[in-house]
Amino acid sequence: MNINEMLNNKIIDCSCGKEHFCSVKTVIIEEAALGSVPGILEEAGYRKAFFLYDRNTYLAAGYKLSEIIKDSGIQAVHYVIEENSPVPDEKTIGTVLLNFDSDCNIIAAVGSGTVNDISRFISFKLKLPYIIIATAPSMDGFASSVAPLISGGMKTTYPAHAPYAIIGDLDILKNAPAEMIAAGIGDILGKYTSLCDWEIAHIITGEYKCEALMSLVRQALHEVTANINMIAGRDTEGIKNLMEALVLSGIAMSYAGNSRPASGSEHHLSHYWEMISLMKGEEHALHGTQVGVAAVAVLKAYELLAACDVDFSERVGYARTNAAMYCSRCWEKYIRSIYGRAADQVIALEASVKKNYPSNVLPRIDKIENAWEDIKGIIKGLPSADNIKGILSRLPAPYSPAGINVDKDAFESGFKAAKELRNRYGLLQLLFDLGLTEDIASDVWEYFIHGCSL
Ligand SMILES: [Zn+2]
Ligand SMILES: [Zn+2]
Repeated sequence: MNINEMLNNKIIDCSCGKEHFCSVKTVIIEEAALGSVPGILEEAGYRKAFFLYDRNTYLAAGYKLSEIIKDSGIQAVHYVIEENSPVPDEKTIGTVLLNFDSDCNIIAAVGSGTVNDISRFISFKLKLPYIIIATAPSMDGFASSVAPLISGGMKTTYPAHAPYAIIGDLDILKNAPAEMIAAGIGDILGKYTSLCDWEIAHIITGEYKCEALMSLVRQALHEVTANINMIAGRDTEGIKNLMEALVLSGIAMSYAGNSRPASGSEHHLSHYWEMISLMKGEEHALHGTQVGVAAVAVLKAYELLAACDVDFSERVGYARTNAAMYCSRCWEKYIRSIYGRAADQVIALEASVKKNYPSNVLPRIDKIENAWEDIKGIIKGLPSADNIKGILSRLPAPYSPAGINVDKDAFESGFKAAKELRNRYGLLQLLFDLGLTEDIASDVWEYFIHGCSL
């Protein structure tokens, strides 16, 4: 199906039993697509438009766009967030609101990341539509209807709404910084493990799954892996494939009503690394760059897990003893030591879902034991960690924790604590259930350091 046939609240009556729809009205990914912005604003019933940029996105598209807007006679305000590398937190949102012109009745987010997240959130709160004018094919959140923001130092997903339109001008996208293009590829490569997590969660927890959505995400993966050289070479057609894959992945999330189809353990690790950097006040790699490295880590962990079944019944016996000895106070103490001022939110989540309690872990261990051959079969369908590491290294993009400033402590604690950010079953909770977290985290770290597998 063509992307535009999937939009505009068209109901897909799916065999999974759900009705899927995506409220984005239009996606335009082509050369000179900026020229379509005035028409889209007219169509959306604009009176006056508020264009939001950061410094980099203004340099990438602002000059050309403001000319086009001026020539078309559209009433507009252009506001540039002055801060270098702004993060979507209370301060930046407040600054944008202070500078918002209340005569404006539509927001145009010019960017690919923070500017989108802020516009998605503010426009939702102000009950205004917004459009996205992408400046880099760097992540898959364009079609998203939620806003990942930093609140109280914690990355939290807030409800918001999907954009009216997504506009990707290939002349701009193909000139995006190389690391942003590589980040977009990394975000897509993370889908191998997010799909695998979903399949396994379905078996172990009975979580809903939809084959049609899984195949949409696989289509996005195929568009990128089959055209990787064209994308890396900034060929217009290649960049179009990447941008379409990113939008498609976003549509799959919109169809699901959450990020499950496109976000698993690799995303939990990347969110965790990002939070650790924010708490330390350090710069962190782009989201998709972190996801690419995390995907290699999760793939290696799955390989190690599938290989450690020499005596699985002994492993399961150990896991049961380990689960029964679980101490929630020790867990809480550990979470406080890791998450600092964000710990309260993490502890509140666990207090409501109790995913680590023996009453939930022990029945899951039974399911894992019964379905072990099926789980191994799903893991066998994954590409190898070496394969994805090779793709990243050839781009070139970082392919190891060291390449994204994640040290041994942050890496190994991520295996323990990243899963606590969400109640979403995947590799990290599976390792916890089997009492394997620390052993596998340290073996995966060794893999990155010495390059040896198994
Ligand atoms: Zn479905
Ligand atoms: Zn992502």
